[in-house]
Amino acid sequence: MKKIIAFDCDSTLSAIEGVDELARLAGPDVFRQVENLTNQAMDGEIAIEEVFGKRLDLINPTRDQCRQIGQMYLETIEPTAQETISALRSDGWECLIISGGFAACIEPLADNLDIKVIEAVPLLFNEDGSYAGYDADYPTTRNGGKPEILAKIKKTLTPDTLVMVGDGVSDLETSSIVDHFVAYTGYISRPKVVQNCMHEAKTLQKLLDILRVR
Ligand SMILES: [Mg+2]
Repeated sequence: MKKIIAFDCDSTLSAIEGVDELARLAGPDVFRQVENLTNQAMDGEIAIEEVFGKRLDLINPTRDQCRQIGQMYLETIEPTAQETISALRSDGWECLIISGGFAACIEPLADNLDIKVIEAVPLLFNEDGSYAGYDADYPTTRNGGKPEILAKIKKTLTPDTLVMVGDGVSDLETSSIVDHFVAYTGYISRPKVVQNCMHEAKTLQKLLDILRVR
């Protein structure tokens, strides 16, 4: 039995929204604008692709700032994440991260959880560490990106069971691809996601009940 479970990162594996924290480092004005755009996108009011480049242009993140966010993800890790992921793994689940966040920021958290596969947006930097753009072709920079990645995983790895866990509309979009979509509501409960989900988990540990992991 091949079982794969994909986790969203921001407001799921960790309490923060990495892009908002990056924006905070750029000052209060940038923060307000970016937070607003993120919320509208996660609530499904505007398309992700519409806000993606706009937010990054506002923030102009350096490589060092991305490292700081990496630390912050670690400091705000979901309290039951480590034990849950280790129990899932012992039960034969392969764990991965699928995120609209930035790979450079998420890597330390993935390392901490011993998750080898991270699907997240590559950022580009100049030699001096200043921002040089992002991979605009990357699937999670747009709506439909997470289902696109999971459809590919389904085709190439042919799991018997495929699960997605997350808090946002971009996670909910995977419902048609996966066997179980779990709305994670430990940090934010988004009405559109909760109303349309198959299962709700207020802690990651609840996944062990939902998936009947002993
Ligand atoms: Mg999220």
